[in-house]
Amino acid sequence: MLIDSYDRVVDYIRVSVTERCNFRCSYCMPEKPFSWVPKENLLSFEELFEFMKVAIDEGVKKIRITGGEPLLREDLDKFIKMIYDYAPEIDLAMTTNAFLLKGSAQRLKDAGLKRINVSIDTLKPEVAQKIAQKDVLKNVLAGVNEALAVGLKVKANMVPMRGVNSQEIVDVLEYCKERDITIRFIEYMENSHAKEDIQGLKSNELLAILNETYSFEDEGFDGSSPSHYYRMDDGYRFGIIEPYADDFCKQCNRIRLTAEGNLIPCLYFDEAMSIAESIKRGDIKGAAAVLKEVVRTKPEKNRWGGEEGESSSRAFYETGG
Ligand code: SAM
Ligand code: SF4
Repeated sequence: MLIDSYDRVVDYIRVSVTERCNFRCSYCMPEKPFSWVPKENLLSFEELFEFMKVAIDEGVKKIRITGGEPLLREDLDKFIKMIYDYAPEIDLAMTTNAFLLKGSAQRLKDAGLKRINVSIDTLKPEVAQKIAQKDVLKNVLAGVNEALAVGLKVKANMVPMRGVNSQEIVDVLEYCKERDITIRFIEYMENSHAKEDIQGLKSNELLAILNETYSFEDEGFDGSSPSHYYRMDDGYRFGIIEPYADDFCKQCNRIRLTAEGNLIPCLYFDEAMSIAESIKRGDIKGAAAVLKEVVRTKPEKNRWGGEEGESSSRAFYETGG
């Protein structure tokens, strides 16, 4: 079992399989083209799988595949199947923008994928175009429909931004509610890669907007999730993630792996250790030692709540959010 210096059990790893993306979401990526990590620096699926085995053997029980856009990486279903065949009991999930899900959802489910989280920031094509810098909505919604049709469990993420999609908070919630999709509203996290003029809505503003239409009860955190949940009178639950708070740190159970093999103990810290060398050498003991050291150095709390007002310089498309 992996236990950090604050007695937290670390049993969840988020694996970014690529930093590349077919969207340019204004809150995540710069508009202008920029250079990507060269493809040869990415770990192959075989190499990533070698490390997944190490992590599973050390006690990891949940793996989330993310990116960039994970569906851009060819043969993703084969990577999923490798993990599933090794440990079918693993909670195997993926976060995706859903653009490429139509046509691939069944294959992913058959390979062993259990759940997906999808970004649904709007239901208006022109707003989707404005956010993603591309005409994406039709494909996104078709992807969500297909995922539901093949029996994948679906959650949705929305980043509400003033003057962009803030008028649609109730509409997106209703869209999700009708399909039994849990929606989590994520407060916009400032970062140097996003468009400069973005103003994210804070949780108190979100709650005030939702309170005009619904009544609900605060249920607090659910397990190790950073999301605060609320239950409406009819039983439907929605979540709010407040990244600037640090009250979710005490139940944090996760670490992150970038597509190049950097293991990150906390989203909000720049520190990382690479497992790439040991995995490429076939040094399983070395990779396990790096994993244990990263868990040991996991900080008690994120730095964003601190007086220094520090934040990570790392991009969300690199860490997988
Ligand atoms: N491409 C996939 C997607 O969009 O779902 C997976 C990667 S994306 C980096 C993972 C999550 O990070 C998404 O839910 C996205 O909304 C969130 N995210 C990205 N930048 C963010 C920001 N600045 N503030 C809050 N959430 C952000
Ligand atoms: Fe791509 Fe996801 Fe970032 Fe949007 S949020 S640019 S879909 S990685």
